[in-house]
Amino acid sequence: MVASGPLLPSVSIVERTMGLARQSLLLALAGAAFIVGGLLAERLWLSEAQEAAANRHAQAQRLAGDVRLADQLLTSAAQMAVATGERRWVDDYDTHLPELDEALAQAKALAPPAAAGRFEQQTRVASEELGSMRESAFEAVTVGAADVARTIFDGERYRNNTRLLAAATAEFTAATVAATQAELTALKRRTYTVGALALLGALLLGAALWRRLASRLARSRAYFLDAEDRMQRLASSDLLTGLANRAALHDAMATAMARATRDGHRLSLLMIDLDRFKPVNDRHGHMIGDLVLKEVAHRLRRCLRDGELQARYGGDEFVVAIEEKDGATNAQAVAERIVRSLGQPMLIDHLAISIGASIGIARFPDDAGNGDELLRKSDSALYRAKTRCRGSVCHYDTSLDEQVAERATLEQAMREGIASGQFVPYYQPIVDLASRSVHSLELLCRWNHPQRGLVPPAEFIPLAEDSGLIGPMTLSVLRQACADLPCFPPHWRLSLNVAPQQILDASLVPQLLAVLREAGVPPQRLDVELTETALVTDTARARQVMQAMKDAGITVTLDDFGTGYSSLSYLAELSFDKIKIDRSFVQTLHERPQSAKIVAAVIGLSRSLGVQTVAEGVETERDARVLLQLGCGLAQGYLFGRPSPALQLGASVESSAA
Ligand code: C2E
Ligand code: CA
Ligand code: CA
Repeated sequence: MVASGPLLPSVSIVERTMGLARQSLLLALAGAAFIVGGLLAERLWLSEAQEAAANRHAQAQRLAGDVRLADQLLTSAAQMAVATGERRWVDDYDTHLPELDEALAQAKALAPPAAAGRFEQQTRVASEELGSMRESAFEAVTVGAADVARTIFDGERYRNNTRLLAAATAEFTAATVAATQAELTALKRRTYTVGALALLGALLLGAALWRRLASRLARSRAYFLDAEDRMQRLASSDLLTGLANRAALHDAMATAMARATRDGHRLSLLMIDLDRFKPVNDRHGHMIGDLVLKEVAHRLRRCLRDGELQARYGGDEFVVAIEEKDGATNAQAVAERIVRSLGQPMLIDHLAISIGASIGIARFPDDAGNGDELLRKSDSALYRAKTRCRGSVCHYDTSLDEQVAERATLEQAMREGIASGQFVPYYQPIVDLASRSVHSLELLCRWNHPQRGLVPPAEFIPLAEDSGLIGPMTLSVLRQACADLPCFPPHWRLSLNVAPQQILDASLVPQLLAVLREAGVPPQRLDVELTETALVTDTARARQVMQAMKDAGITVTLDDFGTGYSSLSYLAELSFDKIKIDRSFVQTLHERPQSAKIVAAVIGLSRSLGVQTVAEGVETERDARVLLQLGCGLAQGYLFGRPSPALQLGASVESSAA
């Protein structure tokens, strides 16, 4: 397998493979050219050698004939000289003798040295003896003693030497012919051998090249498979956490559900949502946010068994699937383990970060028959878990669907209600504690529902915030309040509640100003109340919007102080005009010494910052007295007036004035 190094792009793998193929082809061509060239050179050399050998062979054959002929001529000349006693035969003999010597000399040059040496050795004595005998005989012929010559020639010695010489000569010429013949045969054999060797060489070269190419191709294939595998993994995993991504989750769920159907077990889907993640992200930046998500993935893995499906579903949403094979419902146990684990503080980049998780569980096939439904139902269960209490685990049941349907109906009704003016302003006075004169009116929204009557904000504000209807609703009630304003003395101001998400919306201020302008109300008459939640989410943005309000002349009050994060740093950092002490402190002012201390501290702090304080939920004179003693300037509560419609309030103003 290929070592996992940096991912090679497919293009470079293809180029590599092509380069390889090209290289191998070139090598094959070079090898073939070498073999063919070698064969041709060999052929050339061989044909020359063969021609030379054939010439030598022909010459050897011719010389063998020449020797035989010269020998016969010599023998017959000698015999004729002896028989006739005529001198001319002796002369004839003398002319033929050099011919034989010449032929023999040539044959010796052609013959293999060993054969020539042997011939020389065998014939030297016989030649000499025959020479001297012939000389004696010819001398005898010359002097007319032919019978002496005959005696020499008929003698045993002469005949033996002649036989010996003839046999040696025959053997020698035959050996010479045979040697040239052998040379020819050897050359022929060499042709076959060289051909066979060239063929073998070509085969070996081909095999070696093929092996090389095959091994390189195998490597390229491995690279390809590796790249494909990694690409697949990248495509199916979440880059940040390494968990499966949404697409992979759907595939894996389909497989898990098919397995559950086949084996008859349940599949529980856990939809996990992180609590308090967004503030962490906003406060510490996305780098820290990313590290938190990685840590979450790490903790999830530790809570699960190998092979259990876990995926990142969205920003801070995760999904886990548990196959309940053993029949025991362990999804609940796993969910609790996850909640516990994610609830433990995380030490990230020297920061101690506390988040948490809420989990919704739905089961296949009980709650849902397919993947999308299963996801949707675990999401409704999660919604309930989050609304019930953060950090809780909730199972899906059919009532959730009813709630969802109810929610949808309510949302639609709200939309129509806003358009038709069913959302109306109620006003509650905020008074100066010392003089009891009205400082401002807090605008509290009511839903004048055609069937249900007057619906309190607690029942619709959360939904309005969730569904994005809060903006149109706010503007609608502000518009109505502006229309009501002429009923009230001109120095009374209006306090408008603004939801956390609105204060992060840059279009809020221009929209508010447009409504005020339309009604001819100066922005200085408007006070905006906001809670800390918005500030925690995105302080920088909130500061920008707040500044825009101040620039326009709108004052800003920090509402419900003491209930949320109560971070004093916000007080110092963002210049509020007023701080509203939450009514939970005012209402326990007499029972809990702690509350009195907190209220006193907030008033003291506000004074030093030059900020006014408003006490909320003042119901008794006793409360009013204590708060005044503590230095609180403004107050609001049933003691001074309940939230009421403009008409009622206008009437009471008139009656008090009368
Ligand atoms: P809040 O801004 O804290 O408003 C004060 C709540 O305290 C009001 O409840 C008011 O009726 C109640 N309250 C005033 N004096 C007393 C008292 O002496 N005793 C007791 N027990 N309660 C007192 P309400 O009208 O039900 O409003 C509830 C919340 O709904 C408000 O809390 C505010 O957060 C939200 N809300 C109301 N109208 C709007 C609106 O137009 N826009 C937005 N964004 N939120 C609104
Ligand atoms: Ca308020
Ligand atoms: Ca309040």
